[in-house]
Amino acid sequence: MHQPPIAVAPKYRGRLAPSPTGYLHLGHARTFWFAQQRAKQFGGELILRNDDLDSTRYQMEFVDAMLEDLRWFGFDWSEGPDVGGSFAPYNQSERMSFYQAALERLRAGNFIYPCTCSRKDIQQAVTAPHAADDEVVYPGTCRRNLKSETGDRKFSWRFRVPDGETIAFADENLGEQKFIAGKDFGDFVVWRNDGVPAYQLSCVADDAAMQITEVVRGADLLVSTARQILMYRALGLPPPRFFHCELMLDDKGERLAKRHDALSLRQLSGQGKTPAELRLAWGAPD
Ligand code: GLU
Repeated sequence: MHQPPIAVAPKYRGRLAPSPTGYLHLGHARTFWFAQQRAKQFGGELILRNDDLDSTRYQMEFVDAMLEDLRWFGFDWSEGPDVGGSFAPYNQSERMSFYQAALERLRAGNFIYPCTCSRKDIQQAVTAPHAADDEVVYPGTCRRNLKSETGDRKFSWRFRVPDGETIAFADENLGEQKFIAGKDFGDFVVWRNDGVPAYQLSCVADDAAMQITEVVRGADLLVSTARQILMYRALGLPPPRFFHCELMLDDKGERLAKRHDALSLRQLSGQGKTPAELRLAWGAPD
């Protein structure tokens, strides 16, 4: 008898995507631990991607330290810059052709426009307060710009958001999320005026190309997820699922940042702390 085809869910593929701009700290380790636990729980793969596009901010020394610290903490990935894999390369700096292709598609679909505004121009033109994640909501000055009008001025490419539309998604950890385009976030840069693809574009292009099924990251990126959902739509790609982790705060209630050297994994291991002890302190599942 002819059997109807059974829909098989794609195998879970998660990723760790650190930027080598400083030493990893306990906050990163915690978010990454969730990512690793999720991949294990679903019997899937965990991929390591080195987000090293911003060569003005990253240093080679941090790439090596990153790999070392991740291994020390107990992370284990099946694809990555050091082990290879079928979606190589895993260093963003070697993936320019993917970003260029994505940019071209956004351009062909008229989703983006060239913007010649400097940071100062934007600050001066903005009367409304900041977006939900503290970025300024771009006032739309260049929305009607054509590429032919930029002359020899430097320009970035900006994504035109559908003003007033609610972008909603069901976060696997934090539940239903809603952000209003044009209010909680404005037209955002997808390609910087120094020729470097912006985080929003490289992240979407890579998560899609690497067939990531769930993105686990910090709650500081919730609004970026709304931006990225618009990009997936524009590129005609299905978005992954999202699992945002609450951020770790220091004893003054401030977010841990790479500048909190005292909480870098290096420092902690130097003080004789073990990963198991550190995990216990945040009560993570082991
Ligand atoms: N490289 C980015 C960061 O470290 C990745 C963010 C993400 O997980 O999407 O912030």
